[in-house]
Amino acid sequence: MTDANGSRPQTAARGNAADDIARVTGFPATGTAWSELEHGLKTFKGLDYDWRGGRLPSYTYFYSDELLRVQMDAYRLYSVENGLGEGRAFPSLTRMLDDINAMVLDLFHAPACAGMTFTSGGTESLFEAVRTARNYFRANKPGPANGGRERLNVIAPVTAHAGLNKAGEIMDIDIIRVPVGPERRADVKAMLELVNDHTIMLFSSAPCYPYGVFDPITDLGAAAAARNLWLHVDACWGGFISPFAKELGYAIPPWDLAVKGVTSLSADIHKFGYGAKGASALVFRDSELKTFERFEFSGWPRGTYATPSFMGSKPAGSLAAAWAVMRYLGREGYLETTKAAMDATCQLIDGINAIPGLRCLEPNREANLYGYVSQDPDIDIIAVANELQGKGWLPGQLREPLAIQQGVNPVHLPVVPQYLADVAAAAKAVRKSGERGVFNPRTY
Ligand SMILES: *Cc1c(COP(=O)(O)O)cnc(C)c1O
Repeated sequence: MTDANGSRPQTAARGNAADDIARVTGFPATGTAWSELEHGLKTFKGLDYDWRGGRLPSYTYFYSDELLRVQMDAYRLYSVENGLGEGRAFPSLTRMLDDINAMVLDLFHAPACAGMTFTSGGTESLFEAVRTARNYFRANKPGPANGGRERLNVIAPVTAHAGLNKAGEIMDIDIIRVPVGPERRADVKAMLELVNDHTIMLFSSAPCYPYGVFDPITDLGAAAAARNLWLHVDACWGGFISPFAKELGYAIPPWDLAVKGVTSLSADIHKFGYGAKGASALVFRDSELKTFERFEFSGWPRGTYATPSFMGSKPAGSLAAAWAVMRYLGREGYLETTKAAMDATCQLIDGINAIPGLRCLEPNREANLYGYVSQDPDIDIIAVANELQGKGWLPGQLREPLAIQQGVNPVHLPVVPQYLADVAAAAKAVRKSGERGVFNPRTY
């Protein structure tokens, strides 16, 4: 594998080891021994960035080998079962779901009437939130848009996750992105000015992925309630960090279902919940809203087919892993994982701010996401990113303002000093060489 810049992330020696694994050129006529395949898979990993060594700005979420073992063992126990069928074949999955519902609804201060859907990730949670709001809108709002012929819209701050536009593209719904206000938080007034009788949802993030700041959820909730509008809070990143960061004393603004006017909330279990990939929660203030999400179809020879959300066959492994890791960690465990991620974040922010010419974006410390810019015209921040890439780090890049941006994991904590030393050296080298970089948009 090569990255967008065409360079191998790691040493040539490790890349060559994978090149020694024979390529398959067609469908194999005979089988291959597992020992050989296992060796192949382990060798392939040499092509990748060292996520355990904290080299990635996102993608992987890891706390300890002990926790990973729980996640993997739970997944393995349920890798064959299927989440399809609403518990008919596998009542054990319904049992696990009940427990997950209880944990998630409590964590997000949901009222007693609330309900949730277990989805495959943030993208599905966003898609399903929009789809459910659309179905609810069509069923409840009289007016010209009723009947579904005219284009509907969602009003969102420009910082909303790109996945929202995927939902819009699939469902032919306009996603209207609005410039943000002070501190790069959603501009409530500007958003409300764009609301019309085709608006199915106000969208917000807690926090947003580009900047790690919370939109003013209390204000948006009040505005949504006053206008009878659906408000979605995207806490895919922060859902399993923010409640614990707040408990640890960080200044986390109100953002969950305790806020009046919040209709739905998404939180990824496969990020800082430390579940296996394929796990997110979509919470509804009122479980009745799930009826607008449920899909049912009878017009085929097989009888009624029904699913609570998008997916058909559905990995039970990610459900079992989610159930296991949440129970394994509990509040006490998540306080530890969150402390590690937030400690690393604060050390990184303080360390970057101490490097001449570099400055972290403000406000920060609301989440384990941060970005930094160059304030020195002789230091091109993208050139710094390229230098870091040459040292085996995969830097996230931000377009507005041009910055290096990344999420912070517990795996980053032990490598903070090494990272900061590399950043300082990179900034110095760039200032000396006058090297300029070109923003690479493909760095998500
Ligand atoms: C990760 C993320 C998403 C998308 O989730 P996937 O699990 O990658 O599909 C949406 N919103 C936010 C804020 C995220 O951090």
